[in-house]
Amino acid sequence: MRLWIKDPIAILAEGAERGLVVEDGVIVELVGSGRDPMLPVDQTFDASRHVITPGLVNTHHHFFQTLTRAHPEAINKELFPWLQALYPIWAKNVTPETFRLGTRLALTELMMSGCTAASDHHYLFPQGLESALDIQAEEADRVGIRMTMTRGSMNLSRKDGGLPPDTVVQDEDTILADCERVLNRYHDTSRGSMLQVALAPCAPFTVTKRLMRESVSLAEKYDCRLHTHLGETLDEDDYCLEKFSCRPVDYLEDCGWLNERVWLAHGIHFNDDEVRRLGHACVGVCHCPTSNMVLASGQCRTKELEAAGSPVGLGVDGSASNDNSNLIEGVRHALMINRLTYDAASVTHLDAFRWATEGSARCLGRDDIGALRIGKMADVAFYALDELRFSGAGDPIAALVLCGAHIADRVMVGGEWRVVDGTPTTIDIARLRHEHGEAAKRFLESL
Ligand code: ZN
Repeated sequence: MRLWIKDPIAILAEGAERGLVVEDGVIVELVGSGRDPMLPVDQTFDASRHVITPGLVNTHHHFFQTLTRAHPEAINKELFPWLQALYPIWAKNVTPETFRLGTRLALTELMMSGCTAASDHHYLFPQGLESALDIQAEEADRVGIRMTMTRGSMNLSRKDGGLPPDTVVQDEDTILADCERVLNRYHDTSRGSMLQVALAPCAPFTVTKRLMRESVSLAEKYDCRLHTHLGETLDEDDYCLEKFSCRPVDYLEDCGWLNERVWLAHGIHFNDDEVRRLGHACVGVCHCPTSNMVLASGQCRTKELEAAGSPVGLGVDGSASNDNSNLIEGVRHALMINRLTYDAASVTHLDAFRWATEGSARCLGRDDIGALRIGKMADVAFYALDELRFSGAGDPIAALVLCGAHIADRVMVGGEWRVVDGTPTTIDIARLRHEHGEAAKRFLESL
């Protein structure tokens, strides 16, 4: 079936003024101004109410944290004390049931904001949650969104001088065996893949050096990506200097992680030499503007990293430091925070959109999503400009960022409608709100 998405108000694509033609989940034609599609179509969707962008791609999140948003123990703290406050609460209350609801809610919320592909960094494995990635695979399928699950890990805890409690870490052999299990079971590298797996030690300092190195070997064996947190706070620099007598990027290099399979979350506190080395190695960086502002972490050097050769993507980060999962809001925040670093002409709404789409897709190692071009998957976000906040707006694409779009009217993933009239087609959101809200109560009751 050939579907013509016809005559949008504006579209973030070259030569597609009259829209797109989609067939079998793939974009097969861009319809330029002054003409109709080259071949007859079976169906037409009137997009004259919509501004169209590529589906957004989220490259850093911790889905389980939707259960501890605006948590009274954690608000108004910076990263390390914030983590120390939340770890015991998570350790006690993240169960397969609460984790499933947290995952479902994060995926649904992301998708409603215009996201068509999402990555989650799951590193918390208390006893009983060994099936975390199996749960995420089921939920991504249920919601109907593309996903890169990451098999996170921690094997250093408080008894080793680390931050997490002993109950949420696993030993090296257990972690490596489960990495292979989930790679074998879920990692689909085919074009148009709906589900992939990456390996993601929580941070280089929460695992042993052997685990960092073994993760690289497995990534080469299974052709998957590698992910971790790096350069989020100055506390981390101090910790690394004290423990390892080097800076975080030096330690990363020592672990064999300066290579193009890697994308890092945050990447704020890099010096000029480190930016050059990361760019030269094509290491991706996921910029998390909202979280960086909430935790007062700092500002990512997005433009220097891109100029050096690093793909720069965008992420909402976990919902305990955002405290939502809205990536189109993240695009607006990215523009705003970058304007504190660069002048107005040097960073524009188009940069922020590029990070949230093509840049994020590159971080995930995907060339089949992240842009509206012939041959790419039909992952598309549709925003209406009906709300008061858009009235009077001139440039429709800029308006999404400057006036503050916060919900997609429609979302298409691989040619399938997943959001219609602002409502997911796959999930009952009233029921989800109730069930998730009830599950989250126990995270407060344990205080
Ligand atoms: Zn994170």
